[in-house]
Amino acid sequence: MEIESSLSKRKFILSSIVLMVVASIFISQVDAYVLRGNRVDRPNQVKYWLDASISSIGYNAAAIHGSTAWNGLTAGRLSINVTSTTSASAADVKWYASSETNDLGQFYAQTSTSGTLTSTSIVRINTVRFKTVDGNRQKETTAHEMGHVLGLTHEDTVPSIMLSGPAWLYGTYPVQDDKDGIAHIYQFD
Ligand SMILES: [Zn+2]
Repeated sequence: MEIESSLSKRKFILSSIVLMVVASIFISQVDAYVLRGNRVDRPNQVKYWLDASISSIGYNAAAIHGSTAWNGLTAGRLSINVTSTTSASAADVKWYASSETNDLGQFYAQTSTSGTLTSTSIVRINTVRFKTVDGNRQKETTAHEMGHVLGLTHEDTVPSIMLSGPAWLYGTYPVQDDKDGIAHIYQFD
């Protein structure tokens, strides 16, 4: 009776260990996001600004969608909150239209010399290719570029809006792996 009970306890401990190992492998596979190395200074107070070239070509809705697509993601004590400003000098993210023929959008970050904080990000919508895709793929593109602004780079092993082109997630908002990446960057631990 005594032996049996100690055996079953050992089995329980063993199965717990196996379960933990399996769970940790599963978690490491799920968290496949790739950090770009930059981050915005105040993720709950990010300002975006649209150049006149965006509205003149009719891409306001796409740029606004991309800017705000990550809003509400909770990371540590803060939530991502991106709002508009009419002052270019106050903007953390500036959107322009471009006549580039490569890619659908381009992202540039100006990072501070002291570390990983991004002082200003510039996103360019490449109109030549952008106009060839439908509204949802335009929104997917702008939300993807905003993911670069917030500090993520391409992720092709699990579903992610940070998928590198020309493939599509066929979604217009960040999904779980993207959210996990943002939580990792901004958890302030
Ligand atoms: Zn990209």
